[in-house]
Amino acid sequence: MNFGFTLEEEKLRQEVHDFLRKEVAPELIAEVVEYSGGAGPVHGRRIIQKMGARGWLCPTWPKEYGGINSSEMVGFIIRDEMTYAGAPVSLVGATMAGPTILRLGSDELKKEYLPRIARGEIEMALGYTEPQAGSDLAALELRAEDMTEAQATDKGEVEAEDKGDYFLLNGQKMFNTHAHFADYHWLGARTDPTTPKRHRGISLMIVDLKSRGITIRNMTTIAGWKTNEVFYDNVKVPKRNLVGEKNKGFYYIMTALDFERMFPVGSFRRIFDELIEYTKETKRDGKLLSQDLVIRQKLAEMAIELELSSLLYYQLAYILDKGEVPNYQSSMQKMFATETAHRLADIATQIIGPLGQLQSGSRWAPLHGEAELHYRWGFIETVYAGTSEIMRNIIALRGLGLPLPLG
Ligand SMILES: Cc1cc2nc3c(=O)[nH]c(=O)nc-3n(C[C@H](O)[C@H](O)[C@H](O)COP(=O)(O)OP(=O)(O)OC[C@H]3O[C@@H](n4cnc5c(N)ncnc54)[C@H](O)[C@@H]3O)c2cc1C
Repeated sequence: MNFGFTLEEEKLRQEVHDFLRKEVAPELIAEVVEYSGGAGPVHGRRIIQKMGARGWLCPTWPKEYGGINSSEMVGFIIRDEMTYAGAPVSLVGATMAGPTILRLGSDELKKEYLPRIARGEIEMALGYTEPQAGSDLAALELRAEDMTEAQATDKGEVEAEDKGDYFLLNGQKMFNTHAHFADYHWLGARTDPTTPKRHRGISLMIVDLKSRGITIRNMTTIAGWKTNEVFYDNVKVPKRNLVGEKNKGFYYIMTALDFERMFPVGSFRRIFDELIEYTKETKRDGKLLSQDLVIRQKLAEMAIELELSSLLYYQLAYILDKGEVPNYQSSMQKMFATETAHRLADIATQIIGPLGQLQSGSRWAPLHGEAELHYRWGFIETVYAGTSEIMRNIIALRGLGLPLPLG
C-alpha cells in the first residue's frame, strides 16, 4: 500500500484548504452546528453551491452530472478539509443518496436529481428509521401501496381521473434528521407486506417533502440540534421516483449505509490541534499543561487514535478506487472514528477542567466550547448510521466470517 498522497492530490488539498479558510465564517460554523452538520438554509447552502460550481461537491461523478471525474481519494480529501474547516459535511444527496442513484437509478432519475445535487441546489433527508425499526430495519412498516395493482384488483380508492401510476404512502418515520430543511426524503417503504422474508418487501423511493399529507414534527437532540418524526397520510408518490427495482430496496439501503459509514475526521483533528495549542499556552499550578506527565500521555494516545481513524478513512477511498464497495471496513471506520471522537471530547473536557463545561457562546469557554459540544454530540455519533454494537456485529459477521449468534 502507498501511504502517501500524489503531488496533484496535495495541490488540490491546499487549494480546497485555502478556499475554505477564506469562505468559512463564524456564522457558517454556527449554522452547521444548528443544522446537525448539514448545509443549513442560508450560509450552508451558499458554500456548498460555491463548491458545487467548482465540481468539488461530487467530484467523482461524470461531468454530465456535475462532477469532475476524479478519483475517490480526491473526494475523501475534499470532505476531510471541509470538516477541518467547519463547513457542512453531512450531505445526504452528495455522499449517500447520490452515489446510490448513480449506481442503480434510471436515466430519468439520474438526469432529474444528480446535477441539482452536485450543484448544491437540493438536499435530501434519510428516511429509514421508524419507532419499531432502527437496528432491525427490516421491521419497517411505512406502507407504500402500488396503486396500479390496487386498481387492477379494484381494491384501492383510485380517483376517476387518476391513472394509478403512483404509490400511496401511509405510516410514520422517526429520527429523520434534515427532514425539516431538506427538499426530498430518501425513503424506505414497505411495498410487499405479505412476504415472510421481511427484507424482501421493501422499496426505496424519493419523495418531495412538500407533498400533500406529510407532517414533520421536530425533536431536539442532546447536542441541541433537531431531528424529526415524519408522518405520511395518504401521500402520493409517482412511480418514476422508485430507485432501482421494487422490493429490492433493503439491499440498496444496505449499500447506501456503507457510503454513510465513512466519517471524515477533519473536525476531530481540528479540535485536537486547538487542544494541543491550549495546553502549550495555559498554566495550572505554575506549569504549562503541556508539561504535565499525565496530560502528555493522554495526548499521545489520542494522536495515535486519530491517526488510525484517518488511515481507516483513507483506506475506504483506496477500496472504492479499486472498484469495490467497502462494507465491514466502513463499519470499522465508523465505529472507531466516532468512538475516538467521543474519547477526544472527554479527554479535552478533563484537561480543560471546570471551564470545559462552558458552552459555546460563553467568552470564558476554551476551544469555543467545542469540547463540551462534542462530548454531547459524541453520544449521537455512536448511534446514528448504525450503533457501535451493530458495527461490531457486522465486523464479526462479514469481516471475520463468524456464524450468526445464537439466542
Ligand atoms: C440524533 C439521531 C439522528 C438520527 N438520524 C437519522 C436519520 O436521519 N435517518 C434515519 O433513518 N435514522 C436516523 N437515526 C436513527 C438511528 O439510525 C437509529 O437510532 C439507530 O440505528 C438505532 O436504532 P434504534 O434507535 O431503534 O435503537 P434499537 O435498534 O432499538 O437499539 C437499542 C439498543 O440495542 C442495541 N442492539 C439492537 N440490536 C442489537 C443487536 N442485534 N446486537 C447487539 N446490540 C443490539 C443497540 O446497539 C442499542 O444500544 C438517528 C438517530 C439519532 C439518535
